[in-house]
Amino acid sequence: MSHTTHSMSKTLATAIILSLATLILEVAGGIYTGSLALLSDASHLFSDFLALTITLIALRIARRPATAKHTFGYHRAEVFGALINGLLLLIMAASIGVAAWQRLNMPHEVKAELVSIIGLIGILPNIWTVIRLRQSRNINIKSAFLHALGDTASSVVVVVSGVVIALTGLNQFDALASFVVVAFLLIGAIRLIKNVAIIFLEGAPPNLNREKISKAVCGLPGVVSTHDVHLWTLCSDVVYFTGHLIIDGKPNLREAQEIVAKAAKTLDHLGVHHTTLQIETPDHACTKIEICEIAY
Ligand SMILES: [Zn+2]
Ligand SMILES: [Zn+2]
Ligand SMILES: [Zn+2]
Ligand SMILES: [Zn+2]
Repeated sequence: MSHTTHSMSKTLATAIILSLATLILEVAGGIYTGSLALLSDASHLFSDFLALTITLIALRIARRPATAKHTFGYHRAEVFGALINGLLLLIMAASIGVAAWQRLNMPHEVKAELVSIIGLIGILPNIWTVIRLRQSRNINIKSAFLHALGDTASSVVVVVSGVVIALTGLNQFDALASFVVVAFLLIGAIRLIKNVAIIFLEGAPPNLNREKISKAVCGLPGVVSTHDVHLWTLCSDVVYFTGHLIIDGKPNLREAQEIVAKAAKTLDHLGVHHTTLQIETPDHACTKIEICEIAY
């Protein structure tokens, strides 16, 4: 299950370089202009830089073959990396929130025009990402697209804060803009940790569930019902399935094998590539009576 393509690694590497360049610009700009809003946008960029780097490393680790001790391979490295990034996002959001609160009560002088200019430059890489990923229907790329869209909105807030401060002279808007950026950070962190939790709790992939799968399998000729069905995600793109199939009549081994092959093919079309199916006849009393019995 190699989900690493050369072009994907290349796109990731380009995105990493772009985010690092913008990050350095925003950190330097944030310190020079005295703008907390710019610095909070920079910490978001740092998280993005980290996420992209983790993804690139995880892709390499996940490519390693399964071993005698690690029979699933190393796909969960990606999920583990996402968890670290999510927790880091929470810590950054909290520390910026505290700093913004202090600044609201004691505003610092901000070089507002420069904040807007640097913020504007910071948007450019996001626009590149949005244009590049706009048409893809792949779920991972789609979430990267939505992320870039959110980043653009967050940077726009920083640019607007610079303009407002330049017009009104009210430095408090720097702290207010920081709060908005913190909100974006929190949304990103919660979404990330939620996705990690779904995978750690052996949840089904977002587009599939037990009923959908059982319905497809039970639609095959010869299949009566399914039970003891388990469906889980190893990483964002490897899905496992195990289940029992009750088969009509008294098929011989060759016929039963054909039904299993058809079921595996049906599941493959649904995006489930690792399947383990146990064949049973209706009169066979399954030792595992579970509530997951489904018949159509
Ligand atoms: Zn994987
Ligand atoms: Zn981002
Ligand atoms: Zn079970
Ligand atoms: Zn059974």
